[in-house]
Amino acid sequence: MDWMILKNHHPDATRQRVAAAKQYIENHYKEQMKNLQERKERRYNLERKLADADVSEEDQHNILKYLEQKETEYMRLQRHRMGVDDFELLTMIGKGAFGEVRVCREKATGNVYAMKKLKKSEMLRRGQVEHVKAERNLLAEVDSNCIVKLYCSFQDDDYLYLIMEYLPGGDVMTLLMRKDILNEDEARFYIGEAVLAIESIHIHNYIHRDIKPDNLLLDKFGHLKLSDFGLCKPLHCSNFPNLQEKDITNGRSCSGSSHFDERSSLPKRTQQEQLEHWQRNRRTLAYSTVGTPDYIAPEVLLKKGYGMECDWWSLGAIMYEMLVGYPPFYSDEPMATCRKIVNWRTHLKFPDEAKLSAEAKDLISKLLCNVEQRLGTKGADEIKAHPWFKGVEWDNLYRMEAAFIPEVKDELDTQNFEKFEESGDQVQSSSKSGPWRKMLSSKDLNFMGYTYKNFEIVNDHVVPGIGIAFIIFSFFLVQSNHFLWCLSSRILTPWVDAFLCSILLTIF
Ligand code: ADP
Ligand code: MG
Repeated sequence: MDWMILKNHHPDATRQRVAAAKQYIENHYKEQMKNLQERKERRYNLERKLADADVSEEDQHNILKYLEQKETEYMRLQRHRMGVDDFELLTMIGKGAFGEVRVCREKATGNVYAMKKLKKSEMLRRGQVEHVKAERNLLAEVDSNCIVKLYCSFQDDDYLYLIMEYLPGGDVMTLLMRKDILNEDEARFYIGEAVLAIESIHIHNYIHRDIKPDNLLLDKFGHLKLSDFGLCKPLHCSNFPNLQEKDITNGRSCSGSSHFDERSSLPKRTQQEQLEHWQRNRRTLAYSTVGTPDYIAPEVLLKKGYGMECDWWSLGAIMYEMLVGYPPFYSDEPMATCRKIVNWRTHLKFPDEAKLSAEAKDLISKLLCNVEQRLGTKGADEIKAHPWFKGVEWDNLYRMEAAFIPEVKDELDTQNFEKFEESGDQVQSSSKSGPWRKMLSSKDLNFMGYTYKNFEIVNDHVVPGIGIAFIIFSFFLVQSNHFLWCLSSRILTPWVDAFLCSILLTIF
């Protein structure tokens, strides 16, 4: 440490810095002692569970040894500060207002993931910091088959990164663009799985608010998983300042007037023409910074205050699109779509050419309606019990064969995604380097606490017969907090010292 530099500081400021450093060190060691204690408790509980589980002594010994190894590996990972340089960046599979999504390979393990990269300055500029934190929290907190799995998150000076499982089946938007219209059995499969996925986040008191086909991803078997919990498309009423409740009244009294539907004076498009128009426009809309309003519930657009029901509205709009070919309030202009949504009573129509069953129309009408009447307001069971879902085995849905099984050649195959142009300024890794890069970066208080690691990142799925013990163990680990540093201070000492040294260098 450079004491000469210290001397030049104002004595008060120096004293404060020293106090802060002291506090930091004390907290750090206190945290470590707590984690050590937690590790002991976890071990004790696991031993007890195993003893109760009717497993031979030899197996018990092997399981404990295996899990101990995994825990150590996990802790090694915890100590390793992950950064973008740990990954080889491969094909781009998504591009949004705040960044991009790429297939990537972890250099150390060869594992393939999807990396979502978000530009901090853009998030701050658009006031999306809370949303991106919510996305990280939800992904880290909700462990469900129907939700894209988050392995870890980290940041550098300019970007936030989410490392997720790569779902090679593409998204439902791409599926719909390739298939045009689904039959009712196919739609039932996707809508059914989406019901389970939305239910799984509602149980954790999260509202998605941005349910739309491009946020429904498909795994290699064709099963659906929900993703994109950041509500990153800043599509709010601020984008539509003129949208007021009075539009509803006006809309009713002037229904059909050119003010509310600029196309009404034009010759009516056939279902096929409307579908082609939608198909031409949707990708541009999806990738625009404003996003498409087609799936947003009226109460969200009207800023009336809203709850979980808004996700069920969006699902109704997707179901309509699957069976008809375009969403229910599609217009040439996003603003006109918004007006149609808030005036849904006059604008929700099923084209004569679309051959929908009475049950399908009934379910759509019970999702695209007022909050008070909307199915799902009292829980997902209301929707599951609707006659359109008759015969659906809800508990087995995720074990059944999917409506379409995607073609996936290998783990890096991206054929189920659109091709994206590389912008040219893409650098393979961060340009900043040097031993302290990872220590010194990401100091922005706005993004504090973003870093996260999921224990499953070290789950190699290869030891047979160990599943139950592994689940029990993971459970204890999760309970005792994902962010732990649970190594004894004795083992950690050399590393901790290096770390503290670098922190002190940073402080002074
Ligand atoms: P945005 O906020 O830009 O909408 P998303 O998280 O929805 O970001 O990602 C954009 C697109 O990238 C998705 O529509 C999907 O096609 C692709 N994508 C995102 N995450 C994954 C993933 N884990 N696996 C496969 N594709 C993904
Ligand atoms: Mg999205």
